[in-house]
Amino acid sequence: MNRPGPARDPFDALPPDAAQLAEAWAAAAFTPSIDAELRAIHDDMADATRAHGPICDASGRCCRFGEWGHLLYVTGLEAAWCLRGSGRTPTASDVRTAAGRDDCPFLESGRCGVHPFRPVGCRAYFCDPRASGWQEDLSERMLSRLRALHEAHAVPYRYGEWRTMLAHFAL
Ligand code: SF4
Repeated sequence: MNRPGPARDPFDALPPDAAQLAEAWAAAAFTPSIDAELRAIHDDMADATRAHGPICDASGRCCRFGEWGHLLYVTGLEAAWCLRGSGRTPTASDVRTAAGRDDCPFLESGRCGVHPFRPVGCRAYFCDPRASGWQEDLSERMLSRLRALHEAHAVPYRYGEWRTMLAHFAL
């Protein structure tokens, strides 16, 4: 999850074709073969994570980015799949408020409001110090699969900071 920081207002970082990108990602995200591969990636992550047995005390630390000094990055397909699967699209105000707090708009009373549809970066990150090392490797391997998925289906590939990627859909 550690990458360069977001713009203070995520909408300032949007490219001119943001709306078209969001449309392309949303149209592709639940086509059967893409949906199946995303679920396979998540299943493989769950298996790999189980083998390491990290402790998660559901503190919500992984979702309070500013407080814990990390960031969540996602691909366009992941963002669209999360929003469509959960049936939730944050408003522009939701995105800006989360960016101002430097946390996730789906963090609700310390819990994830889109848990079954959360991105790879959320599934790979554990604040358990014993997770250092393997979680970075796992995250990179799964990111390669996500990129290959975009390319195999000619879906525009973008990998961006979470609130900025959400802003594409909140225009
Ligand atoms: S999507 Fe869920 S797990 Fe991921 S940062 Fe947001 S609240 Fe946390």
